[in-house]
Amino acid sequence: MPGAETPRDPSSATPDAPASSDPSRPVHARADVDRAGSRRDRSWPPVPDALPLPVVDNHCHLDFADGDVELSVDDHVQRARAAGIDAMITIGSNREAAFWTAELVARDDRLRGGVAVHPNEAALHARGHDHEGRPLIPLDEAIAEIDRLVRGPGMVVVGETGLDVFRTSRRDEAAHAAQVSSFRAHIALAKELGLPLQIHDRDAHREVLEVLDADGAPERTVFHCFSGDAEFARACVDRGFYLSFAGTVTFKNALGLRDALGEVGLGRVMVETDAPFLTPSPYRGRPNSSYLIPLTMAQIAESTASGLEEACAAVRATTLEVYGWPAA
Ligand SMILES: [Zn+2]
Ligand SMILES: [Zn+2]
Repeated sequence: MPGAETPRDPSSATPDAPASSDPSRPVHARADVDRAGSRRDRSWPPVPDALPLPVVDNHCHLDFADGDVELSVDDHVQRARAAGIDAMITIGSNREAAFWTAELVARDDRLRGGVAVHPNEAALHARGHDHEGRPLIPLDEAIAEIDRLVRGPGMVVVGETGLDVFRTSRRDEAAHAAQVSSFRAHIALAKELGLPLQIHDRDAHREVLEVLDADGAPERTVFHCFSGDAEFARACVDRGFYLSFAGTVTFKNALGLRDALGEVGLGRVMVETDAPFLTPSPYRGRPNSSYLIPLTMAQIAESTASGLEEACAAVRATTLEVYGWPAA
């Protein structure tokens, strides 16, 4: 989750466990304005041609609404299937979303889930209140809730956790320390449960590797929305980590990401949307959904000098290897 969020119902964000909400409808909304303050085009891009073989979106946020027309979870799943994306892993990256996600994946077999205290949320829990001044539970209690939720039905991954020094400055020492200790707690949890770990790494490549090297990474460690260059990709793959590419790889200025794919090839690569964020070109800024994965898969195939069918088969096999799902 890279973007700003607006809670749909601010009054519900209390320190009590969030009230259960209808898991077929999103609980957050992506901001209508981009970071520069201008209004986005909120129309849904068209559904692209279907992929020749099905792949899995291994990181999206179904709890976030976007678009001029609201899509239900079922709408997202149906559109994705029409485009050759037959399954999705949805990630709950704040407290309300974690409860929501646990409820959704427990009852919808087309989906699987992951939960964690997102690094930027870890900083807020440590401070004791959110951006609007509403109180938050202490970080250790938030992590204890994740420990419980991730053991529930339909959960396949601990994440997203890691370090974000883009939104949370390193100079804020208490906030940064909270990110590091939260990251370490999630590494330990993934190892204890034998689950994969999804890493959120924003401008913190070297330090993320340092923490993983020091603590010992879980056997299956995934860099979600991989954002490094060829050298960093090599350092990750040499450690046995997996790289998940999002729509960012299609952006005009993303030469480093395409080089990274050229460097490591298809072996440890997966695909994701991080929807509703990071919409691939040529629809950057518009709402994102799993059905737009074919645009990103086309770039993955091109940058690894492989055919689209070969790329889809490799990504699917890697997804099964990491999450044990979905079986053929
Ligand atoms: Zn993220
Ligand atoms: Zn995310």
